[in-house]
Amino acid sequence: MALLPLDEAIDIVTQTALALRESHPPDTRVTTLWEASGFVIATDVRADRPMPPFDKSMMDGFAVRAADLVGASTELVVVDEIAAGEVPSREVGPGEAIAIMTGAPIPLGADAVVVVERTQRAGERVIVQGTIGVGANIARLGSQVAEGEIVVERGRIIESLTAGVLASFGAHEVPVYRRPRMTVIATGDELVSVEETPGPAQIRDSNRKTLMALGEAEWCRVVDGGIAKDDRHELARNIRDGLDGDVLVLSGGVSAGSYDHVRECLEAEGVEILFHQIAIKPGKPVLFGRTARTLVFGLPGNPVSSYVTAMLLLVPAVRILGRRPDARSWYLDLPLVERGLDATQGRTTFHPADLVRLDGDALGVRPRAWDGSADHVAYARASVLIRRDPQASAAMPGEHVRVLMPRSLVEW
Ligand code: AMP
Ligand code: MG
Repeated sequence: MALLPLDEAIDIVTQTALALRESHPPDTRVTTLWEASGFVIATDVRADRPMPPFDKSMMDGFAVRAADLVGASTELVVVDEIAAGEVPSREVGPGEAIAIMTGAPIPLGADAVVVVERTQRAGERVIVQGTIGVGANIARLGSQVAEGEIVVERGRIIESLTAGVLASFGAHEVPVYRRPRMTVIATGDELVSVEETPGPAQIRDSNRKTLMALGEAEWCRVVDGGIAKDDRHELARNIRDGLDGDVLVLSGGVSAGSYDHVRECLEAEGVEILFHQIAIKPGKPVLFGRTARTLVFGLPGNPVSSYVTAMLLLVPAVRILGRRPDARSWYLDLPLVERGLDATQGRTTFHPADLVRLDGDALGVRPRAWDGSADHVAYARASVLIRRDPQASAAMPGEHVRVLMPRSLVEW
């Protein structure tokens, strides 16, 4: 039977995540802006005042009447000084100037600000070089944002600059969505935790850490589901605990070996399997299912397979559950540099690679040598993944390939 194509698998995950999300009312709470970083905002926030809130000087200099400046230089009488935060106490009359600082309100009468570099101050007087256009160096009231305009859209993650925008408009308390809760369980008799010393034939469990770190980077509440032995009873117990969250992720135990019990145990716990095995390399054994309230990912145990399938399937799902609008993967079309790539063999294939700078600012992509899906050390050194179609022929340097952009670069 033909394997499910990757894009169909992504569609199934995406649709299932959307359906699950829509089947529950949004769960929100109000938090202070100080505690809101990393949460998704649950409302549109509108400007409570225009920006700038008054006609404002963009420079240090002198507020003048543009019509006063004629010829190569003009002498004006300096009648006052306005610092940022001060309300002007008098107007600028004909032949007058008021010294003004960046951010201070423009006094009545003035219609331009001459930058200090174009002036020479002599006591009560200032000599201004050249002429000036009306409005120069003035940010007009409301010219950036009108009162009532939406300044932060619902669904945005509150991060540095967004948090600052909320502060600008007085949003000191904001409603945010509850973060998806994601449990990660590693399975395998050969696994020991990082704190333990591996015995002969044992390895350290790395996937649990990779997947938990990925979940944290995607703003989930991550629950450590521990390591389960390849034992039906133990696995069933861990799975039952994990099924009270929004997402359950298991690593290992989904291939065809005699100790691969994950599918059987999931089904016994009432998980509906929506696909198992897809046309992807690495990552073919991946499994996806759901209950009424939880999405379930059974990722292959090989560290690279587990990571790649998590990037392609798990991350979009948690973004959707988190009510973020940015679930889609981004690709760039870039030329291969130095090395070519072999033909693919019927599965969408991901290859670790590095971005390289060509002449000027153009980018290329150089495939990395790696040793297959267990070699996560080589994979971790790579900066991007090249995606190749299931029927792609061998590619030579210079040919263009699709490069999956790291999610951190394409937040928005
Ligand atoms: P499995 O998918 O359970 O058949 O595992 C495939 C390969 O991945 C085996 O070589 C495992 O030892 C390895 N593996 C499984 N789980 C992990 C894990 N949590 N961390 C590192 N390697 C693992
Ligand atoms: Mg195993």
